[in-house]
Amino acid sequence: NYRCRSAFKLLEIDDKYEILRPGGTVLDCGAAPGSWTQVAVERTNANGKQKRASQGAVFSIDLLHFHAVPGATIFGGMDFTTSLAQKRLNEALQHRKVNCVLSDMAPNATGVRMLDQESITNLCYEVVRFALAMSAPQAHLVVKVWDNGDVPKLERDMLRFYEKVKRVKPRASRGDSAEHFLVARNFKGATET
Ligand code: SAM
Repeated sequence: NYRCRSAFKLLEIDDKYEILRPGGTVLDCGAAPGSWTQVAVERTNANGKQKRASQGAVFSIDLLHFHAVPGATIFGGMDFTTSLAQKRLNEALQHRKVNCVLSDMAPNATGVRMLDQESITNLCYEVVRFALAMSAPQAHLVVKVWDNGDVPKLERDMLRFYEKVKRVKPRASRGDSAEHFLVARNFKGATET
C-alpha cells in the first residue's frame, strides 16, 4: 500500500538506525508522491493509530502537488529552496522543533555533469542549513546524495553538527546506481564544537 518503491529505502534505513519514533516531528523534503511520508506517518504515529503511543507530526513538501496522506501536513507546488517555502514550514511548525529531517530530493538533471553535480550539492546544503536551524537536540537527518566528489566534504561538514554520519546504500536503492544516503544522527546543536 505504499505509493512507490522508495518507501523500502526509508524502511530499511529506519530499521537499522531508528531515526523515526512515535511522537516525533518529521520534515520530509521532496516528498511526492508520498511514500516516505506514509512511512514517517506510520512510524511517528502522526495519524494516532497506535492508541497507547504518543502522536507525532509530519510536514511534507514538494515542487509537485500530490495527494494527501492522512496524518501529514502537505505543502505541494512549493520549492523547498525558496524563502517563502521555508517561511511556510516555519509557521506550520510553530515553535515545535524537528526530530528528523528527510530529503529524497532530486534536482532536474540538465545532463551537464558539472552543473548537475553542483545543483545536487546545493540542494543538500540547503537541507542541512534548514535542519541546523529547526532541529531538536539529538535529532537526525537523512539526505540523498550522488556519488560525486563533493560528498566527502558534505559528510565532514555534517559531522561538525551530528555525532555520527554514515554513508548508506539501502538494498532497495540498488537500481539507482549512484544514489546514496547520508544518515546523520544525534544533532549536537548548531554551534560548532
Ligand atoms: N521520497 C518520495 C517518495 O517516497 O514518494 C520520492 C521523492 S522523488 C525521488 C524526488 C522529489 O524531489 C520529486 O518529487 C521532486 O519534485 C522533488 N524536488 C526536487 N527539487 C525540489 C525542490 N527544490 N523543492 C521541493 N521538492 C523538490
